[in-house]
Amino acid sequence: MTAKVIDGKVIAREVGVALGQRVQALEARGLRPGLAAILVGDNPASEVYVRNKTRACAEAGIHSELHRLGAGCAEREVVDLIAGLNANPAIHGILLQLPLPRGLDAERILQSIDDRKDVDGFSWSNLGAIVAGSPRLVPCTPLGIMTMLEREGIPVEGRNAVVIGRSTIVGKPVSLLLVGRGATVTVCNSKTRDLREHASRADILVAALGKARFVDGSMVKPGAVVIDVGINRLPDGKLAGDVDYDSARQVASHITPVPGGVGPMTIAMLLRNTVQAAEQAAR
Ligand code: NAP
Repeated sequence: MTAKVIDGKVIAREVGVALGQRVQALEARGLRPGLAAILVGDNPASEVYVRNKTRACAEAGIHSELHRLGAGCAEREVVDLIAGLNANPAIHGILLQLPLPRGLDAERILQSIDDRKDVDGFSWSNLGAIVAGSPRLVPCTPLGIMTMLEREGIPVEGRNAVVIGRSTIVGKPVSLLLVGRGATVTVCNSKTRDLREHASRADILVAALGKARFVDGSMVKPGAVVIDVGINRLPDGKLAGDVDYDSARQVASHITPVPGGVGPMTIAMLLRNTVQAAEQAAR
């Protein structure tokens, strides 16, 4: 079997078209969705991520602005900047680009973002809403994964899903979303025994561990859906996912590529969350 490739770029483009209509509807009511990105320090990868996000905003007709702070800034400066953006009616989404330089407590700073503008979905209240089964603003990568499954018509209810990774950004929220859709979910971490055995029972396998090509075809159940979240830079400068694409593709029924899979969906969901936050503010 050679897996069907789930093209994140195509699905993200379709999401963008639907969003464009929602942006126009808001503009007709005199409201333009606005996203503020905060970049602290000079991490080159963060620069690229923020540039891609602000470019995507421009394409979707969303106002975006970038706020830069130096690597040596005090936590108070970031929190004060966020307080100003929380109070700014032209801003509907606030994005704090991670990781932050050493010495800044990302978790504490993130929790100072108004829940209604928390378009990354990392506030405890937005994460808690997923636990309660009433998702509001959902973290972008997990939301992107669920949207891909939905668009591909992949059934989730009653399936065995295995998520490798338990981060607050990806592993835990995607696990809870899968639970919400009726999957039987196993969440693995670095201490998991017999990871291979767990993985090979998955109908839906989500790899989010941050280790290049860790999951190979021998760990994949024939016919499984493989979602590769990983973005790893190889010594030759190329990008690789957490899945060994070539071997997994021979076994899976569906697979996401890296690049061009989950990554574009993450950005599309950031835009979607920003539009949703603006619509909510307009009510
Ligand atoms: P993270 O915070 O480093 O978490 C990694 C998780 O994987 C941890 O829970 C860790 O377990 C687990 N893990 C590590 N090695 C393992 C192993 N050998 N077996 C089983 N579990 C293992 O990473 P993250 O932020 O979730 O990101 C994961 C990957 O996704 C990274 O490559 C990141 O760049 C990528 N990513 C991509 C997107 C996108 O848009 N495509 C978005 C976000 C992240 P412990 O908890 O026990 O340490």
